[in-house]
Amino acid sequence: MTGTLAGRLSGVRRAARLALDLVLPPLCLACRKPVGEPGALCPECWGAIRFIGPPHCDRCGLPFEHAQATAICGACLAHPPSFGRARAVMRYDDASKPLILRFKNADRVHAAPALARWIGRAGREVLETADLLVPVPLHWRRLFRRRYNQSALLARALSRQTGIAWAPDALARIKPTPSQGGLGARERRLNVRGAFKVPPRRRPLVWGKRIVLIDDVLTTGATLDSAARALLRAGATGVDALAIARVLKAD
Ligand SMILES: [Zn+2]
Ligand SMILES: [Zn+2]
Repeated sequence: MTGTLAGRLSGVRRAARLALDLVLPPLCLACRKPVGEPGALCPECWGAIRFIGPPHCDRCGLPFEHAQATAICGACLAHPPSFGRARAVMRYDDASKPLILRFKNADRVHAAPALARWIGRAGREVLETADLLVPVPLHWRRLFRRRYNQSALLARALSRQTGIAWAPDALARIKPTPSQGGLGARERRLNVRGAFKVPPRRRPLVWGKRIVLIDDVLTTGATLDSAARALLRAGATGVDALAIARVLKAD
């Protein structure tokens, strides 16, 4: 492309964008109010977003109201997930929704490093033992419509920040899963069963590795469970998962 008119134009556009970034004040990742530094939230959004911290379920990361005797929630006791530990940065609610939607639709490239840094903090423990980061893939039809897999952008940014390798194509989504919206936990599990597969040429990459799946929003964990199962079948020694936000029934 270099040397062609299109290539030169995209170079000019990139330079213009860079110049704009230098002139315009950095904006809040959620509401676009000016803030002091890029990749930050304004004080109001910072105050409204509910970050998830301990006490929480050791397995799925579900926050507990109070410290409790058992470290594992009822759902994980009843249906132990195939992933080891899942952690999310914040609750998915009215306060965090604009941030997530903006990242999905408009602000992918700018917000990814900041969101990845938050994921790195929330998942510090999980990342200590990680060999490989794997984004949860979209089915190619959805990828075609959206053009971006936002989980892959997060995994790439997190890989740059931590030095842990990432593999965007270690998992393939072989079944287009209809939207999970409005489905209960049981239906979601059925909906995504057998949805993922490690392509044969990627098996050597996965074999014997401790893998961390990267996703944007964690709902019931059914998708992560199905993706982790596929990685374990391909010889991964363990699978954990990290996400930006987590849907909670109470929200
Ligand atoms: Zn804000
Ligand atoms: Zn749990």
